[in-house]
Amino acid sequence: MSDQQATTSTVDVVIVGAGFSGLYLLHRLRGLGFSTRVFERGDGVGGTWYWNRYPGARCDVESMQYSYSFDEALQQEWHWPEKFSAQPDILAYANHVADRFDLRKDIDFETSVTAAHYDEAARRWTIETDRGDRVRAQHFIMATGCISTAQTPEIEGLSDYEGGTYHTGNWPHEGVDVSGQHIAVIGTGSSGIQAIPVLAEQAAHVTVFQRTPNYSIPSQNEPMRPEYEGEWKADYQDKRAEMRYTAHGSLKDLNDKPAHSVSEEERQTTYEKRWEIGGAGYLGSFNNLLTDQEANDTASEFVRQQIKKIVKDPETAELLAPKTYPIGTKRICIDSGYFETYNRANVDLVDISEKPIERVTPEGLTANGKRYEFDSIVFATGFDAMTGTLFNVDIRGRAGQALKEKWYAGPRTYLGLMSEAFPNLFMITGPGSPSVKSNMLVSIEQHVDFVTDSIVHMRDQGLEVMEPERQAEDDWVDHVQETANRTLFPRANSWYMGANIPGKPRLFMPYIGGVGRYRRICEDVIAESYKGFRFEANASAAAAE
Ligand code: NAP
Repeated sequence: MSDQQATTSTVDVVIVGAGFSGLYLLHRLRGLGFSTRVFERGDGVGGTWYWNRYPGARCDVESMQYSYSFDEALQQEWHWPEKFSAQPDILAYANHVADRFDLRKDIDFETSVTAAHYDEAARRWTIETDRGDRVRAQHFIMATGCISTAQTPEIEGLSDYEGGTYHTGNWPHEGVDVSGQHIAVIGTGSSGIQAIPVLAEQAAHVTVFQRTPNYSIPSQNEPMRPEYEGEWKADYQDKRAEMRYTAHGSLKDLNDKPAHSVSEEERQTTYEKRWEIGGAGYLGSFNNLLTDQEANDTASEFVRQQIKKIVKDPETAELLAPKTYPIGTKRICIDSGYFETYNRANVDLVDISEKPIERVTPEGLTANGKRYEFDSIVFATGFDAMTGTLFNVDIRGRAGQALKEKWYAGPRTYLGLMSEAFPNLFMITGPGSPSVKSNMLVSIEQHVDFVTDSIVHMRDQGLEVMEPERQAEDDWVDHVQETANRTLFPRANSWYMGANIPGKPRLFMPYIGGVGRYRRICEDVIAESYKGFRFEANASAAAAE
């Protein structure tokens, strides 16, 4: 970053990202009188729902719960057409919010923030973009989402491939016409599992390359029932208030019995009922599925048996049945006809669990010693989650220290909101907060409110700088790991653990202690005069004393 460059503007707050976090931040901060500028790399709002336009993309949290709660008129007036919303409907909602609250005028689209350096003397951040903007701001907020840096594996020969390549997390806006094509899909996580059934209906042939099979539960999606929508809207405020203190930020029917407290017959009946209801509520069948291996085994086995019932070819069914990790310790997938798709004549499954894809050729790829030819390859290979997007910006705090250097052994935050030595840098749903282990909208609203309230507190109290204390941060990092270690989560090679990215430190990144518990911790922090944070008074006020 060159000091010779002219400072083009000064604002109170710079926000990176115009997804659900950035939009709500802008709305709140601007309403409170802070000059605010948002930079967004896309040419529209919506974040995750702007980029992930692959066929079949759909939210796995119910529509009535996956939406903003901050505006009563908005939540009463908006109508969701389906129980689980498809990507175009969620993107339409984000656009509606941007228009309704007149947010676009303060968003710079198609502009990526490249660097943000903290000037200790001036107590200001200097932010630079790929369009040559240079902005000074007191507060710098990364509202960049948890899974926004798409990851394409480095496979030899990829650059020589002559067909089309597509990543689910960066799908072309004009769509991809695969009709008549022979296509490969690499990856069977949430994105692959949603895309494969739709691609199989469109393409001549789909070959799925599977490294690890996933547990998936049918969504049992349906058009929104008017009476169900009415029930929610009748007391939306109360329901939202209740959601905020639940384990995952959503109202689900959680059974508070352990799996082995009931008979084998009752256990099976419970799983069958949950399967019929559909969705991630399956993991709420019993209260110890994510903490007790034997309990988990019963839930995992039920899903394996369901797969074997659905998939007609026994060999394929066996390959699709996950065995190497407990159900729920990788993000559970929610599907619409995924396993049934393997009964189609135009779908094949290739197991690459023993040996990775050998190379991409100009015509296709080679795996297990066999050559395949494809018109297109779809990468459903996931993201550099939680930290990847933060590291894409050259963020430097006190003494020029890079965030990436400080976090070389894993992310270090206090409450997933701030990191020591990076004053006035806030992260929305950062590592160490419930984030991806929750209904994101609930966690986003909580963090936006926390950050906004903190900035208002500083203004009201004549404070200029906010930063976590080192000890508070160290204790929080330990607490996040101890909490994870009391569960089965560390037993899976998941992206929660950074295991999908070669060389990434292995540790559990989200806070698994529960959305409600986390919220109470944050409330206590504020009630105890921002316990664990230190502040510096305004330079002018301090000088006058
Ligand atoms: P993902 O869960 O990380 O899945 C990536 C898939 O690609 C895995 O099957 C992985 O295998 C495979 N893979 C990665 N690198 C590979 C390689 N070099 N060779 C072969 N296979 C490779 O990514 P995702 O499906 O995009 O989902 C990410 C997250 O986004 C989800 O967990 C969820 O939180 C969110 N999401 C949500 C929804 C929804 O709301 N319904 C939909 C999509 C995504 P391994 O398992 O062996 O690593």
